[in-house]
Amino acid sequence: MEIAKLEPLVVLTGAGISAESGVPTFRAAEGLWRNYRAEELATPIAFHRDPHLVWEFYAWRRELIAACIPNQAHMFLTEIEKQISDFTLITQNVDGLHAAAGSRNIIEIHGSIWRMLCTSCGNRWDDRNIPLEKFPPLCPGCGEIARPDVVWFGETLDAYVIDRAFETVQRAHAILVIGTSGIVYPAAELPRIGKMHGAKLFEINTEETPISGIADQVYRSKATVGLQDWWADQQIK
Ligand code: NAD
Ligand code: ZN
Repeated sequence: MEIAKLEPLVVLTGAGISAESGVPTFRAAEGLWRNYRAEELATPIAFHRDPHLVWEFYAWRRELIAACIPNQAHMFLTEIEKQISDFTLITQNVDGLHAAAGSRNIIEIHGSIWRMLCTSCGNRWDDRNIPLEKFPPLCPGCGEIARPDVVWFGETLDAYVIDRAFETVQRAHAILVIGTSGIVYPAAELPRIGKMHGAKLFEINTEETPISGIADQVYRSKATVGLQDWWADQQIK
């Protein structure tokens, strides 16, 4: 069997792809922590006001995510990557599950919950300790307080990273969007820009999103099921 012309293929994933691994999406009820919405804690203002509170939230999320493993959708993407030579995975997720599954060409546009960033000297380092060794974590270089190296609501994305993401979608032949609400910018712009540049756009999501209306084909299903169906549809018999 042959595969339909998909290259260059870009897959854009959001919290929905990790939902079946047990990682709550931000908009799901179980994504709430002590009745705070993520938008109230995952912000520079919240961190400035109360770094302990924000770190408690992240310590909870790190523990929760550490207990999760990649699901069939994460795994299936690694198989697709083996068959498509020009393949880029752009993820909004900070959980590290794509890397854990074995995906290789990943652009983590919102950073990683497993990386620290010093608020003073800008030092970055990996930290997978559960529980955290120090609370709140401190920079090993200068001793100042660290933050999670993730992009918070109200922050701009790393210019180099987002430029790479835009370049990639602009030359894509096909874009597959999985489990993203399509309302967090500038990530939400990526499928639209790709489509404007001629890419065929596919969406897998359990719910309707702003991307659904511009997609060439929508799979209204869970990521694991939708991805298998999409791949089967790309086989030329
Ligand atoms: P979101 O929470 O706003 O939306 C999740 C989307 O996934 C929704 O559209 C929902 O309908 C869909 N969905 C839920 N379960 C699904 C399933 N099983 N299969 C397919 N689709 C499913 O997430 P977002 O759009 O990624 O934006 C939220 C921001 O929060 C992101 O920037 C991300 O960095 C961050 N976030 C990350 C994680 C993570 O790393 N796993 C989790 C929550 C939020
Ligand atoms: Zn420092």
